[in-house]
Amino acid sequence: MNRIRRAAATSVALAGLGLLGGAGPAEAKLSVVATTPELGAVASAVGGDAVSVLTLAKPTEDPHFVDARPTHIVTLNRADALVEGGAELEIGWLPPLVEGARNARIQPGAPGRIAASEGIQLVDIPASFDRSRGDIHGAGNPHFMMDPRNAAIAARHMAEAFCKLDAAQCSAYQANLAAFDARLEAKMKEWSALLAPYDGVAIVTYHATWRYFAQRFGLKSELFLEPKPGIPPSPPHLAEVIEKMKAEGIRVILVEPYQTLKVAEMVAGHAGATVVRVAQFPGALPGTAGDYVALMDANVKAIAAGLAGKG
Ligand SMILES: [Zn+2]
Repeated sequence: MNRIRRAAATSVALAGLGLLGGAGPAEAKLSVVATTPELGAVASAVGGDAVSVLTLAKPTEDPHFVDARPTHIVTLNRADALVEGGAELEIGWLPPLVEGARNARIQPGAPGRIAASEGIQLVDIPASFDRSRGDIHGAGNPHFMMDPRNAAIAARHMAEAFCKLDAAQCSAYQANLAAFDARLEAKMKEWSALLAPYDGVAIVTYHATWRYFAQRFGLKSELFLEPKPGIPPSPPHLAEVIEKMKAEGIRVILVEPYQTLKVAEMVAGHAGATVVRVAQFPGALPGTAGDYVALMDANVKAIAAGLAGKG
């Protein structure tokens, strides 16, 4: 189970394939690949200097439909660990990449395969599920990282996994985890205070991305521009949403970078609401690259401003 020896063997194999340039001696850091940028940001916070983190999805990509590229296979081939959201978030694009990477360290069940969803209480688990209808939340809602307390659970899970893979650095991982937790908890107080005036207030979102966020901060997120997760908005559904927004006095629509802004603006125009730009991924909003806490800070502030009518 010598990571350096394994990495060296990988290097030899890849050099044989002409995939390595002037690579030097085997990488001493734990090589972590994350599927999406918020998981990568938390892995970096927990891993600190002892890990190198690469992320497959771009901050502006839909995590359900990531563009699979050949470079992803090379990245996965070299990984000591793969952090995924799980709960079927990446089911549409990750399995063929992992298969193509031929890396036993990150196969399902291996110690290097880390599912952030493990230990998380998922919502929206369907009683019955028919994938043919196009619904993409078959294992429950996979957007749990938008609740900062779930990010703390995922961070602890990552620290435990990194300790198993790299026992020599375990105390560093635990110290990094404690620092991440402390920073997050301090911000939680601030965020809860910012959103406290809107307890029980309803919001509309494009996709069911903000269910955990709403649950944590006392908002109501039950109305979506998509008729079902992954199904594009249709005119009859949007007409219904506009009616409900007017009837319930809903003032805010959340939209993410890869969603159709025009549709949200049209609905907001009819319903007398404000469109608020938010994101699941660090780097998708200015000043948030590589930093989960900064991302959530930007989200909370944008949503609070929208709810206050200052959006
Ligand atoms: Zn989704």
